[in-house]
Amino acid sequence: MLAVVYKEKGKFALEERPRPRLEEPTDALVRVTLSSICTSDLHILHGSVPRAVPGIIVGHEMVGVVEETGPAVEKVHPGQRVAVNVETFCGDCFYCRRGFVNNCTDQRGGWALGCRIDGGQTLYVRVPFGDNGLTPIPEEVSDEQAIFTGDLLSTGYWGARIADIRPGDTVAVLGAGPTGACAMMCARLYNPGRIVAVDIDDRRLRLAVEQGWADEGINPAKQDPCAFLQACTHGRGADVVLEAAGGADTFQTAWQIARPNATVCVIALYDRPQSLPLPDMYGKNLTFKTGGVDACHTAEILELIRTGKIDATPLITHRYPLERAMEAYDLFAQKREGVIKVVLRP
Ligand SMILES: [Zn+2]
Ligand SMILES: [Zn+2]
Repeated sequence: MLAVVYKEKGKFALEERPRPRLEEPTDALVRVTLSSICTSDLHILHGSVPRAVPGIIVGHEMVGVVEETGPAVEKVHPGQRVAVNVETFCGDCFYCRRGFVNNCTDQRGGWALGCRIDGGQTLYVRVPFGDNGLTPIPEEVSDEQAIFTGDLLSTGYWGARIADIRPGDTVAVLGAGPTGACAMMCARLYNPGRIVAVDIDDRRLRLAVEQGWADEGINPAKQDPCAFLQACTHGRGADVVLEAAGGADTFQTAWQIARPNATVCVIALYDRPQSLPLPDMYGKNLTFKTGGVDACHTAEILELIRTGKIDATPLITHRYPLERAMEAYDLFAQKREGVIKVVLRP
């Protein structure tokens, strides 16, 4: 089978690989019907994910059909359409039992697929802990509707969930790329008064507003987001800030646009350490939440997709057959043609 392989820092290649086999009783084998390219794949390519193992097949966001299951897999069956979770988790350790599956202590736990073990930019993928890593897709939901369930939408859903959004709140979301857009869609579920998207890319802001993910789009290169948020909150600032941009100065913007006693939820992954200028923010009494997604709400997300409350399909701007994956990577890395998300069909 054809697969996108991480060769070494700076190099991915399309190679022929043998079809994987079940290794553990809890494994499931999935025939991939659609996968996507994620910014994290570029992080692997650029060598900024030290735990990524050279030689592995990349890809951690995919949907497919269960081909085979190990004897200990009970919840999914061959022939079922499933969304694959970015995170592998045992479901039984201290953290998993508390829903903090991102910190699963099993050696296979965490972001394994397409990073430490073979992922899904190919035709078949072996998924450890199939009962936790796979979620059946309702019949009415298409592959394109379901593709972001296990990664992007899980991240947005988790971020919005821990951000303490109350009805009527003004929510600012920094970054209107795929993660920010999914955070907006999920923040909307909590009935905020308004969602303000902040991004330096006008095209992304326009899409967010057109799709109803955000009510307003602010480009900090043209307008001061702090002043804007104060103007629409009687001088207070945002009630909740979701930082999904991960830019050089976006963490500073995040706490500056927040009102006193706000929650600032950081879902972005930064390249560099950030400074927390406590003397400057003294008296603002902010609550910070940070971290990596606990991707264990995939069934709820698929139900929200089925009932039309979440639709991330407008993020898919480009579709490629797997044979042209290298072209797709090039387009995605160079951000050509207004690309947001690329999907690959094996
Ligand atoms: Zn990803
Ligand atoms: Zn665990």
